[in-house]
Amino acid sequence: MAEFTMELNDEQREVRDWIHGFAADVMRPAAAEWDEREETPWPVIQEAAKIGLYSLDFYAQQFFDPTGLGIPMAMEELFWGDAGIALSIVGTGLAAVGVLANGTEEQIGTWVPQMYGDADDVKVAAFCSSEPDAGSDVGSMRTRAVYDEAKDEWVLNGTKTWATNGGIANVHVVVAVVDPELGSKGHASFIVPPNTPGLSQGQKFQKHGIRASHTAEVVLEDVRVPGSCLLGGKEKLDERLARAREKAKEGGERVKNAAMATFEASRPAVGAMAVGTARAAYEEALEYAKTREQFGRPIIDNQGVAFQLADMRTQIDAARLLVWRASWMAVTGKPFTSAEGSMSKLFASEVAKKVTAQAVQILGGNGFTREYPVERMHRDAAIYTIFEGTSEIQRLVIARTLSGMPIR
Ligand SMILES: Cc1cc2nc3c(=O)[nH]c(=O)nc-3n(C[C@H](O)[C@H](O)[C@H](O)COP(=O)(O)OP(=O)(O)OC[C@H]3O[C@@H](n4cnc5c(N)ncnc54)[C@H](O)[C@@H]3O)c2cc1C
Repeated sequence: MAEFTMELNDEQREVRDWIHGFAADVMRPAAAEWDEREETPWPVIQEAAKIGLYSLDFYAQQFFDPTGLGIPMAMEELFWGDAGIALSIVGTGLAAVGVLANGTEEQIGTWVPQMYGDADDVKVAAFCSSEPDAGSDVGSMRTRAVYDEAKDEWVLNGTKTWATNGGIANVHVVVAVVDPELGSKGHASFIVPPNTPGLSQGQKFQKHGIRASHTAEVVLEDVRVPGSCLLGGKEKLDERLARAREKAKEGGERVKNAAMATFEASRPAVGAMAVGTARAAYEEALEYAKTREQFGRPIIDNQGVAFQLADMRTQIDAARLLVWRASWMAVTGKPFTSAEGSMSKLFASEVAKKVTAQAVQILGGNGFTREYPVERMHRDAAIYTIFEGTSEIQRLVIARTLSGMPIR
């Protein structure tokens, strides 16, 4: 088991600097354009694929870094570059984690490479859990998966919403209800392979921030997938459902459902994205405050400005520490007895919102224009307190974990 250290090793530093170079040289210059276009930045994803940054290998290497710092470090640098483009690059990872967390080795080997494609023909993947009436309340999910035993096929019907890369993905991972009696414990995840009839894109959303990332509804009409597309396999599902039915009878212990398992693994990573955006805005504000002069001196000469920057940096560093702790705990198998994963996501996302707003303030009128990147960063930061569980839901998870009470 890896000893915990906050010092990145040589290899990690090298990887971090390599990602930072791509973020600074390729993502930053393209950020404003793709934000305006509100389209998936395919050429940038392709550039990332060419150098191996958008690939299963790279993602797996960071995912399995024994210190746990690989993913948060990569996320921070990419989202420092630009949040919208970065989400287009890492959105596939959320679907991949869904397969890594619940799939068999064979399923991982078959489907994850198809999520990425290759440098000459890049593909993306989508993870579809949220529905119009099931956002925070995952238990209200209605998309149904019914087993057709004669054909060994599952038939999926329903409407998913807010899916990153939804409809443009090569592979969709869809969470659906297999046993409505069990609420959120009766869910399972399915692979919908490329070009499966019955899957279509619904509305594409026009967003406040992260506009270079495609977000859309996904409509499933009699979508038939082979039995082998049930993540984890039928035997494991039947065992899990039997256990859940037993527990339901006893009225006891909670059984983790498929969607929650995916979210659990990805929350500190979202915290790291927020740290990246916050750090980017802080750096812009620091530089601006040192050069902008009013009353015959740089504005940073005023405690009113300098103290804000001191607070911004302190909060960013504190957020990173919470993210690193949670990522280290996840990789070393430490139990999240105080919901440390949710804590890291809650704190980092709130810090990103606050710090980017402060950056806009420090840049004054310029901060309010699209001439300066803090305006975009401020819009982008608003997503972190919403997706992968809102701040309120993180607080619920933390409070329930700490108290053991069913806080509402
Ligand atoms: C850009 C974007 C990308 C996304 N990508 C994906 C994706 O790839 N895949 C996917 O499946 N989903 C995705 N989502 C969905 C996202 O996870 C949901 O938006 C989020 O879970 C919140 O659900 P909701 O929007 O339905 O809000 P609601 O659940 O309706 O919440 C509305 C408000 O009520 C509050 N609230 C709700 N319940 C409680 C409670 N019990 N106590 C206190 N407050 C409460 C919430 O905190 C929030 O402030 C994405 C969303 C966005 C905006």
